[in-house]
Amino acid sequence: MSGSVPGGGVKSEPNLTPILDMVFQLITFFMLVINFKSAELDLSLQLPVLGSAKPLPEGANLKLLVLNVQICTKCPHSGCDAFATLRRVTDADTKKVKSYQLVCERGHETDHPQGAITNGKTCLTVYGRLLCKESRSKDFPSIEEYLRSEADLSLMSATPPLTRDEVIKEGKELMDTVVIRADTGCRFGAVNFVIVECQKQGYRRFALKTGQVEIKTGS
Ligand SMILES: [Zn+2]
Repeated sequence: MSGSVPGGGVKSEPNLTPILDMVFQLITFFMLVINFKSAELDLSLQLPVLGSAKPLPEGANLKLLVLNVQICTKCPHSGCDAFATLRRVTDADTKKVKSYQLVCERGHETDHPQGAITNGKTCLTVYGRLLCKESRSKDFPSIEEYLRSEADLSLMSATPPLTRDEVIKEGKELMDTVVIRADTGCRFGAVNFVIVECQKQGYRRFALKTGQVEIKTGS
C-alpha cells in the first residue's frame, strides 16, 4: 500500500474487496441459519391440554408439515369482505386471557366477547395467510390446493422420489408427519376435514399438537 508522497505522488484508495467478501459471507451465514419454523406456527392459537399426550419420539430426519387449524368468519367491520379469526388478548403480567377480538386479514380489530366463532368456516393459517375450503385467488388457494402443493414437495423430497400415482393408487405413503395444531375452540369436524384432505394427498402420519401440562412437584 503506497502512501501519498508530498509534492505529487500516487494516491492510494482503500481496498474494498476483503470487506465485501466478509459482508457476503455474513449474509450467506444468516440466510442459512434463519429459522422459518417459528413463522409457520400461529402463536395466537390456544392449544388444548391433554395429560396423556407424549412428545414425538426422537426420530432422526423427521420432516414435519405444520398446519394451524382455526375457524374464520366474515369481518364485522362495515364494508370489509375479508375473513377474520379469533385472537385472545392476554394480560402481559399474569398471561391470563382478558378478552377476545376478531382480527381480519386487513387488520381490523373488533371486540368479540363470545370467545368462540360459531357457524364459521374451517381455515388454515400458514405463514400469516388464511386458507379456506374454497380458493379465493392465487394468493389464497383452497385448503385442498395448498395441501396438494405441499404433497408435491413431499413427493419430490422422498427417497427415492415418488409419483402421485404411486401414492394415491398403489398405497405408498409419504413419510412426512403432518402436525395439526388446532385451537381449543375448534370443532372436531374442522380437524377431521383437514385430516381427510391430507389423507387424500397421501399423508399417513399425523401428530396432534397439544399444550404442555405444567407438572407441579411437591415442595
Ligand atoms: Zn376487515
